[in-house]
Amino acid sequence: MWSNIKRRGILLVLSAPSGAGKTTLLESLKRVEKFVFSISCTTRPARPGEQDGIHYYFISEDEFDQKIQKGEFLEYATVHHYRYGTLLQPVMEALARGEDMLLDIDIVGAASLRASGFSEVRESLVDVFLFPPSLEELRRRLIQRGTEPVTEIEERIERAVKEAQHWREFRYVIPPLSPEEMLSAVRAILQAERFRASRYF
Ligand code: 5GP
Repeated sequence: MWSNIKRRGILLVLSAPSGAGKTTLLESLKRVEKFVFSISCTTRPARPGEQDGIHYYFISEDEFDQKIQKGEFLEYATVHHYRYGTLLQPVMEALARGEDMLLDIDIVGAASLRASGFSEVRESLVDVFLFPPSLEELRRRLIQRGTEPVTEIEERIERAVKEAQHWREFRYVIPPLSPEEMLSAVRAILQAERFRASRYF
């Protein structure tokens, strides 16, 4: 009966161009939902306040190459001149334990997961695209955030426009909404996805 039935973990992928409100959403999501957060490897230098092993594993180009060669990445991509990769082992372990995992990866990474050679990854995947706000609002947010040099802001905006063209490839799309509405939209998606019969065995 039901007591013998278990659920496989969900791989919740949130992809969004810079300035779409993803960081705020991730923070509030982590407070209200139980997730294992996938810590990516990156060749990008740490920003002030970022800690190795918490926000990312900050590694060198050589170390990144070695990990690719050893097959340690589930997916990897180059974003804004730096490389980012999701480690395979923690994802597989979380899924095997039936735990839900949260991945903050770009649209290239999301596409790799949809095409993954691991059937458990494809079946666990719930990919969500956060649609960026208007160009004016995007520019305002990027300037206000101040994490990128002003010269890179136009580059980020251009990239956001290009990335937004891929929204149809995702299972879910969240339009520009208030932070509270975005949070309830993602929670509603999760709620339904957790009850899909195909996740139970
Ligand atoms: P940031 O440098 O601002 O932390 O992240 C830049 C972009 O890289 C974000 O869009 C983020 O989703 C993406 N990203 C972070 N980690 C990974 C990863 O492991 N794989 C891929 N494909 N993208 C990632």
